[in-house]
Amino acid sequence: LMQLSVPLNFIGFIYREIRQGLTDIEQMFDLLDVSQEVIDKPDAKALVVGTGRVEFRDVHFAYDPARQILKGVSFEVPAGKTVAIVGPSGAGKSTISRLLFRFYDIQQGAILIDGQDIRDVSQQSLRGAIGMVPQDTVLFNDTIAYNIRYGRVNADEEDVRKAAELAQISGFIQRLPEGYKAMVGERGLKLSGGEKQRVAIARTILKAPPILMLDEATSALDTQTEQEIQSALDLVSKGRTTIVIAHRLSTVISADEIIVLADGGIAERGTHADLLEHGGLYASMWDRQREATEAEERLRQAREGD
Ligand code: ADP
Ligand code: MG
Repeated sequence: LMQLSVPLNFIGFIYREIRQGLTDIEQMFDLLDVSQEVIDKPDAKALVVGTGRVEFRDVHFAYDPARQILKGVSFEVPAGKTVAIVGPSGAGKSTISRLLFRFYDIQQGAILIDGQDIRDVSQQSLRGAIGMVPQDTVLFNDTIAYNIRYGRVNADEEDVRKAAELAQISGFIQRLPEGYKAMVGERGLKLSGGEKQRVAIARTILKAPPILMLDEATSALDTQTEQEIQSALDLVSKGRTTIVIAHRLSTVISADEIIVLADGGIAERGTHADLLEHGGLYASMWDRQREATEAEERLRQAREGD
């Protein structure tokens, strides 16, 4: 038993490390077919997705009993609407995305999709219904076409190309000498963060899930790339229930509701206009971001003037 426990712990460690990074969930489950902390109920049924309404109801969660991360969080994402989650780093934003995917079970409350508690349905059906565009996508050491097609393995070349176009990555691919057959990943072409994110968006467009979970990149992207990614995300989230962990002003402005997470709870909520008027945490975050954007813009203009 001793001999066995070491490698299993080690696998558990790797599993948690990968899970933590929310890299590529489907890939991870393929690679590591190991026992999970979260297991299906014996009578777990497939999730029946209707309109895709998501609800967090009084959710309490701690990774470690000594430190509560979410202390009773409630919000609702009506079918087809977009809710943005903002807040300081470490507030628990990415935790919310991990909980929706049921990487962990909550200690109190419920998470529901179209009225079904996610603990009552099979994890496979749950994850099949949610498209995740993580902050940092890890690509397979394979062709760019393979990496996109992963969203729906039976998609034909035309579908892959269309998805790439919608995700604003087709121009980049066409300029590669080997085009869609170019190898990417560790042993191939190194893509930038923004390019990888657009590959993940293309993959999600192919998957066409009813529910979307987007964790926007925090890393400073240039304005052009940011606009390209934004329009790709707008396309994919159109008509889909979307939760976006938002850093970009443009996402936040157009969200149906903005939730400001702080100290394990919802500090403020409302539309962009509501929250600006309120003059609280969101308003000060907004001011800071706008100043940064304006400074960046001045710098760019000064450079162009040279
Ligand atoms: P955010 O995305 O808002 O920056 P996270 O949801 O990633 O924040 O993390 C919320 C808090 O939970 C942080 O303090 C983080 O350190 C902690 N945390 C995240 N993952 C784990 C884990 N696996 N074990 C213990 N604490 C964790
Ligand atoms: Mg995060």
